[in-house]
Amino acid sequence: MSFSKPNFSAATLTTTRVTPAPVSGICVTCVDGCEGPCEIGRSALKGREVIYPVPFGKITAGSEKDYPVDFSHFNIQGTAVGAVGVEADPDIARFPNVDTKTTVGADNSIKMNFPVFTGAVGSTDISRINWDEVAIGAAISGVIVVVGENVCGMDPQAEIKNGKIVKSPEMERRINSYNQWYDGTGGVVVQANVEDTKLGVPEYVIEKLGINIFELKWGQGAKDIGGEVKLRSIERAIQLKERGYIVLPDPTNHAALKAFEAGGISEFERHSRLGMVEEESFHKSVEYLRSVGAKYVTLKTGAYRPADLARAIKYSSDAKIDLLTIDGAGGGTGMSPWRMMNEWGIPTVQLECLTYQMCEKLAKKGAYIPPIAIAGGLSLEDHIFKGLALGAPYVKAICLGRALFAAAMVGKTHGKLMAEKMELEGESVVEGYLRLFAVGSELKERFGKDFEKLPAGAIGLYSYVDRMKQGLQQLMAGARKFALKHIDRNDLMALTRDAAEVSGIDYVMDADAKEVDKILG
Ligand code: SF4
Repeated sequence: MSFSKPNFSAATLTTTRVTPAPVSGICVTCVDGCEGPCEIGRSALKGREVIYPVPFGKITAGSEKDYPVDFSHFNIQGTAVGAVGVEADPDIARFPNVDTKTTVGADNSIKMNFPVFTGAVGSTDISRINWDEVAIGAAISGVIVVVGENVCGMDPQAEIKNGKIVKSPEMERRINSYNQWYDGTGGVVVQANVEDTKLGVPEYVIEKLGINIFELKWGQGAKDIGGEVKLRSIERAIQLKERGYIVLPDPTNHAALKAFEAGGISEFERHSRLGMVEEESFHKSVEYLRSVGAKYVTLKTGAYRPADLARAIKYSSDAKIDLLTIDGAGGGTGMSPWRMMNEWGIPTVQLECLTYQMCEKLAKKGAYIPPIAIAGGLSLEDHIFKGLALGAPYVKAICLGRALFAAAMVGKTHGKLMAEKMELEGESVVEGYLRLFAVGSELKERFGKDFEKLPAGAIGLYSYVDRMKQGLQQLMAGARKFALKHIDRNDLMALTRDAAEVSGIDYVMDADAKEVDKILG
């Protein structure tokens, strides 16, 4: 059975004329005269544009490959005995009393109300457009938001002097909107890739905007090349080429210009450079960020080969990094090549299992293990539980990229419809939001008059986190674990031999074997 579905996908708005062959994805009979609705056919007309999911700026995308082992191949163990982390008394060990707070940071000083944070909300249109919804939603939920790479470099209004950023209204807008709602839990992390570092983004956001958490970026789960966006005007393409980005096709090339004017191509692509990881330069970057005022330095790596994962863990351990985010294949994106998204990289479960093995090895030598976060196709409370358990005791949080976006976008969509309806009926939008959102009244009591300033998308994100909180509390209570730190690998069972072999988690029929023998005498 093929794990993949090549040549047709909702992501690229392509389909096949008749049933495709499973491996190639080409129709079992490819007929001369077909208009070619498949990926090959669209590529015959629009070439490179068909590499990416569409429409850019309106979607997030995630791999549709059926990986041979995923989180559904594990179930959570439940027990009827006792309670860990709370008195084993039915009146006290109630599920609403389960503590879902966590901390990250080498000194555990970054507090989070719930063990999730956003993926990098960067310079793609969908990130820019939905920033307020996602960031404010994260702030009122007490979780971290990550400003992705290239935000300053992509800002059309940015002021750059001698190759260094001196002002970025877009970055200022982003930081300010989070900070207005920040109450001490969570925080803003700013990513710095090759271009950002060259542009002096760290110095700028530390000195001018008071940022103290930084994320060095090696990669992500969706792709193993740098970040990229689409550009719809020749002026913008030229501006970003002048700022040093790779822009394809070259907007100063005569043939490309002609193709754009004639409609043969409708957009340009801006790409970031590949990072070149080296141990010495990594430590220098960390030292540099600390020297210019970063209180916390974190690292995000992608679904790279095991040796690179080992590098990420070892270097982070040596540098006493505050958080290491590991993003597996299956992870989402605002823009990445569709086939790459499906076909490259170590899937999340396998990557997390390798992470666990490597952390164990280092921990046995007494090394510092940074707080670890796992990302890559996770969305609901059972994923959070399993993600924390599979990598316990090292995994402290789960990075939810597309999921938090989805909640924010749905909240925004319904908020807009409700606002229009209330306006037509001559009623207040606040009343409409109280009707629309289950958490509306709770947030109105919490924020009073300021409730009306909350974007509907932020309420949607908060509502989704709130739902996951109760869901996780229920799962944890079922496992009798009353705080996140008590979740361990023994809380899982593997449903297949493959999953057991990959993870080292007991196969369901072998679990508790010793205890069973003891009980049965
Ligand atoms: S060109 Fe038409 S017939 Fe051929 S594979 Fe594509 S959709 Fe099928």
